[in-house]
Order: sequence, then C-alpha cells, then structure tokens
Amino acid sequence: MSDSPPRAKRFPLSLHQLGTAPKGSAGPAGAGKASAAPAVAPASAREPLKPQGHWQQAAALKARTLPPSGLGLDSAGVRQRMVQRLRREGLSDERVLNALATVPRHEFVDTALAIQAYEDTSLPIGHGQTISKPSVVGRMMALMLAAPGAQARGDLGKVLEIGTGCGYQAALLMQVARHVVSVERLKPLHDKASGHLVGYNRVRLVYGDGMLGHGPSAPYDSIISAAGGDDIPQAWLDQLAPGGRLVAPMTAPSGRGQVLVLIDHLRDAQGSRFVRSLHEPVLFVPLKSGVM
Ligand code: SAH
Repeated sequence: MSDSPPRAKRFPLSLHQLGTAPKGSAGPAGAGKASAAPAVAPASAREPLKPQGHWQQAAALKARTLPPSGLGLDSAGVRQRMVQRLRREGLSDERVLNALATVPRHEFVDTALAIQAYEDTSLPIGHGQTISKPSVVGRMMALMLAAPGAQARGDLGKVLEIGTGCGYQAALLMQVARHVVSVERLKPLHDKASGHLVGYNRVRLVYGDGMLGHGPSAPYDSIISAAGGDDIPQAWLDQLAPGGRLVAPMTAPSGRGQVLVLIDHLRDAQGSRFVRSLHEPVLFVPLKSGVM
C-alpha cells in the first residue's frame, strides 16, 4: 500500500488544480473523482463548471450516448443493416429503402422492445395491436409506388392510412407522399401516435372509424390499410381518386387467413372501374368498426 502513487487531493485546491476553470466556478476541474469518468474530463476542462457540474455533465452525457432504447448513437447503423437485409430479400424500391433507413423505428415502440426494433418482426404496441413487419410495410409501399398514377407523379400524392397504431407507418409514408391522413379507432393509440409524430407536419391524425375512410379530405391518390376485414369497405373505393391505388389485407377467398389485395381505380374511355388483384398471404390485426 505504501508504494501506491499519491492520490490527487480534492481539498484544499492548489492554483494549478483550478486550471482553466473560470472565476467563480466551484468545481475541481479534472481533479479527484472527476477523473473516474474520463469521457467527461475533456468537456469539464473546457466548459464552465457549476457545483456538482461534473456529475450533471456525466448524467447528461450518459443520457445522450445511452438513450433508453440502449441502441446508443448507432441506431442509423443498425437501421442501415436492416435495410441491407431487406434489399437482399428482394425489396428494391430505393425510395422505400430510403424511408426505412430514415425513420427511427425504435422510437415508436416501448423501451423494452427497442432492441428488437430493427429485426424484421411485428411487435406489440399495446391494446392488442402490433406494429407491422418492416418487410411487409415496405412491400405495401412499393406496391403503391408502382401504380401508374404514383409513377407519373413521382410520389404517393395524398394518402389515407387506416390504422395509425403507433404512427411508424405514417412516418414512413410521409417520406414518399405529399400529405398523409391517418385514422385510428383506439383513442390511446391515436394519442400515442400524436406524441410520436410531433414535427411531422404533413401527417394529419384522425381519431375515428377508418372503415368510413375520412370524407373531409377525400379523394385520395393512395389508400393503405394496416388492418384486415372480410372485404374492402365501400367508403374506401368511393374515396379513391381515379388513377389511385389501394393496398390492404383482406380475408383470403378460402376464408382462411389473409391475403394482400390491390385495387386500382381506372378511368378511361370505357368509364370508371375498379380492378382488383390478390397477392401473397399476410397476417394483420382485424379491421373493426366503431371507436373505443
Ligand atoms: N400502421 C400501424 C399498424 C397498427 S396495427 C403502425 O405502424 O403502428 C393496425 C391498427 O389498425 C390498430 O391500431 C387498430 O386499432 C387499427 N384499426 C383497426 N380497425 C380500425 C378502424 N376501423 N379504423 C381505424 N383504425 C382501425
């Protein structure tokens, strides 16, 4: 013990220990226990210290580098790896991949689930509902962007989303649309999404029964549903603009499971009609009527 190096004295402070700390500051810059948190030392040498300043700075730094998600500052990197996986699996629309690389999915789920946010899996968002798998959301968006109307316009135009949930898909849609109207029937989820989407000012969240669409902002160039019923509600077709495309899950013709349905509203010399095609099996929460 006797030959251990002398420990820095905390008090009284000698002049050199005060270092560059400005006049009036009470903190021991770089001295004593502050050196136990080396990441803070350079900042504490530069910045004016308040009483307990180094503890406050350490706490602030910790809060910045270790957000509750535990994903650290590298969430963009984790997101990028998810995008690379989706690309390898066949998702090729660059605008969709870019949206998936931009929106921080971990901020839309509960802290305890954030670590799973960049796996290609659906996750619970409370109230018996789930946030959809990134690959499925990506696939639906790519199908909508491939519509002739969207190709001519270069984006999804005005979008109606049924089933806001936690707001993740609305944030993605906003990256490739001019305006998004999103309807949710569960008030707590509508409120949760409102909190998540602060600052996304081209997204309008509506608390209501999305089976009725949202008449006041109709018609829509694109309609997307995150919940599946036995058929496509007539209101959605009524609110789909000519040239517009609708993508939604729906009970499979066999009556077992769901499939993705795509409906184009065509208007040409033969008049106005809806052309429907069925795609791959999917698994979405049920579309229910009324609000809660
Ligand atoms: N897009 C969402 C997915 C949420 S899950 C997200 O990114 O998180 C589907 C949502 O559809 C659920 O929140 C459910 O409450 C909602 N939903 C079901 N039927 C509905 C209806 N008739 N009108 C509006 N929302 C509905």
